[in-house]
Amino acid sequence: MCFAGKTENNELDKIMNKIDIEVSEVGLRDGLQSISQIMPTEDKKRWIKALALAGIPEIEVGSFVPARIFPQLADTMDVAQYARTIEGLKVAVLVPNLKGAEQAIMARVNKLTIPFSVSETHSLRNVNRTHVQMLNEVKNIVELIRRLPIDERPTIEGALSTAFGCSIEGSVPEDRVVELAVALMEAGCDEVGLSDTTGYANPVQVKRLIGKVWSAIGREHLTGIHLHNTRGQGLANVLAAVEVGLTTIDSSMGGIGGCPAAPGASGNIVTEDLVFLLEAMGLKTGIDFDRLIAARNVVATALPDVELYGFTPDAGLPLSSPPHIKRNLDFYP
Ligand code: ZN
Repeated sequence: MCFAGKTENNELDKIMNKIDIEVSEVGLRDGLQSISQIMPTEDKKRWIKALALAGIPEIEVGSFVPARIFPQLADTMDVAQYARTIEGLKVAVLVPNLKGAEQAIMARVNKLTIPFSVSETHSLRNVNRTHVQMLNEVKNIVELIRRLPIDERPTIEGALSTAFGCSIEGSVPEDRVVELAVALMEAGCDEVGLSDTTGYANPVQVKRLIGKVWSAIGREHLTGIHLHNTRGQGLANVLAAVEVGLTTIDSSMGGIGGCPAAPGASGNIVTEDLVFLLEAMGLKTGIDFDRLIAARNVVATALPDVELYGFTPDAGLPLSSPPHIKRNLDFYP
């Protein structure tokens, strides 16, 4: 089996830019989608600009979903087109179907992420499609993308959600995750990602599942993981993923998003804490911590009623922080 894709180019970018781990910010999509207070479009643009200034290399800026279901994401076209004007920033959007992919192409984004629930019950609830129907949708999206000139084609990632467990079905067989990863690659995706949608994952499971998927599709086609901190295991799972060799980690500024099933719990892992963890361990992210906190302040001002999580922003950086993590206490409360 041979999967030719664009992930090799991403790997090259990382080497050229001397970045060890690419932090992919998903707050504008995963974070905002479960927050009822609508963030004004201009604030989203300010947030994106501040994140890019801080050195965040990739941002998932929204999702092309019906505005009546997700009014928070109704401005995704405008936001994505703005994000594409920022040089060097990789702009990703979530697209659940062919219609969304058509809009993503109009916005000329760099990457499409297609959510694919390993739990079929979750798939039916989330996108109202069985696995067979969803695989057909992926094939249609791939066909659409392949009609574009080669240099205009966005990367396509099949994001395997509920890969570590489902809040409806319970445990999810690892062999099923592997089968679906293979099916997504055969359908024409450039890469797959593993998503712990429900915060069920533990570090041992993370390492084991990555190994199994790598054996089936090759290391270069699984480079990223999407983790939630629902049960406080998020950063432990990051360490497991990084130790085995994943190079892209999704996170959300302030851990926004929450989880309806776990009151008080943060949503995605917190970008600020993730960057501190990685840099403190000597892994380069290319991100300036002070500027990251400035981006956090944009969110705090735009959404004053939304709780922002994160230990590092609350505590400040340790005095012993290495010089490449700048320390400017002015940013801290
Ligand atoms: Zn998520």
